[in-house]
Amino acid sequence: MLKKILDPKSCAECRLCCIFNRYDVWETPVFTEELCRRIRSARPDTEFVTKDGGYIFRVKELDENELFTCPALTETGCMLGDDKPFDCRIWPYRIMDVGGRRAIVIASICDEMFSRPLSELVGFLKAGLADEIFAYADLHPEIVKPYYEGYPVLLFEKNR
Ligand code: SF4
Repeated sequence: MLKKILDPKSCAECRLCCIFNRYDVWETPVFTEELCRRIRSARPDTEFVTKDGGYIFRVKELDENELFTCPALTETGCMLGDDKPFDCRIWPYRIMDVGGRRAIVIASICDEMFSRPLSELVGFLKAGLADEIFAYADLHPEIVKPYYEGYPVLLFEKNR
């Protein structure tokens, strides 16, 4: 979804959003049942737990320097290709519940996007992406995460 604004090659080389530490492991994507099946058929040891109708990885408690790599990540990138979870397709945009109102925020860890002017980041959203994100979240509320301090809010949903 962000192919127009994010170079897929630089994403494939970075992979930062596919590897998690103990502080951002809550950021792992939410999967559909079909995607769980696909990952399990390639990585039978992968465990999932349900989350509001979707599925997230079961991750053991990580030590200070321990990392969890998404089991869908391969040497050549995400094994799910264009079918990757919605969370991953809109990264580094995230949808969060900010005091009872849905908002689109951005993860500062993505240098490629975070270095862009604010007007550009918001402009992408206003050009239709925000509507797509809110519409998807209507059908899949499990992708809406509680607000996490430090994530700049770019755009609040208009009152429903
Ligand atoms: S599903 Fe794919 S894009 Fe998403 S975190 Fe895992 S490897 Fe990365």
